[in-house]
Amino acid sequence: MELWYTEQHTDNVRFSIKVDKPLYTGQSEFQRIDVFHSKEFGTFFTLDGLMMVTEKDEFIYHDMIVHVPMATNLNTKNVLVIGAGDGGTVRELTRYNSIEQIDMVEIDKMVVEVCREYLPQTACKLNDPRVKLYFEDGLKFVRSKENAYDLIIVDSTDPFGPGEGLFTKEFYGNCFKALKENGILVNQHESPYYAEYAKSMQRAHKRVKEFFPVCRVYQAHIPTYPSGHWLFGFASKIYDPVKDLNEQAWNRLGIKTKYYNTDIHKGCFALPTYVKELLGSE
Ligand code: SAM
Repeated sequence: MELWYTEQHTDNVRFSIKVDKPLYTGQSEFQRIDVFHSKEFGTFFTLDGLMMVTEKDEFIYHDMIVHVPMATNLNTKNVLVIGAGDGGTVRELTRYNSIEQIDMVEIDKMVVEVCREYLPQTACKLNDPRVKLYFEDGLKFVRSKENAYDLIIVDSTDPFGPGEGLFTKEFYGNCFKALKENGILVNQHESPYYAEYAKSMQRAHKRVKEFFPVCRVYQAHIPTYPSGHWLFGFASKIYDPVKDLNEQAWNRLGIKTKYYNTDIHKGCFALPTYVKELLGSE
């Protein structure tokens, strides 16, 4: 009998992947964790029935959430990562020798344990000596931080369940305070395509804008996320992500990426008209 993983993207749309082997199912204090293996996407893991990471397309998300802010400020030394339990974001950050400290705050220890076992491709750099893991709620963690980080990356689940607090005004205000005067905040911004996701994206964008003078949105194509069209928020105290891109300096680093390059960097901030309208209308 054929086994399919099916995810409900909207009331009227479902997305399915043929599974050749279920690998793990568990319930943590916060969420249900499943790991499957498939021919098309390799190993993938889901939280509460929602796709998080697949071996085949994770490079797109992790390249875009890390290299866009890094190429904008190559002097980034202190980074805070919130969520990101699969380790893919940390893996990309560790490729920069200039980074001195990476604090990663993941609410669910079990996600990290499961990914260490089943997704070594993404979890492979969590033992880097610059990485300090905190198993806490990111919303609470940032409350006590002031002028501490050059970059905060919010690699969270969607704005419900444990991830809800990471889309609030309180959280964005505390991120602003936790960042140094040159600070950058990048967060996953949901999809503009389906109305329900678009609403979350508009809300997040509006809230970030209340604190940060520079507030932009960029896009990437991620086949396994709802609609495949995914957005990231870029907010900063001083840097413009396109004007301040250190194109030559970044290329001189020789970091080999599969999705990101400096042409993509310049192009990804060019948004379709309907997305511009969604952002402008809030
Ligand atoms: N790339 C993924 C996506 O957008 O679908 C996100 C990957 S990562 C696995 C998301 C992580 O955020 C999860 O492991 C979850 O446990 C964590 N998380 C959710 N809420 C959190 C919170 N309040 N504080 C810290 N981590 C949180």
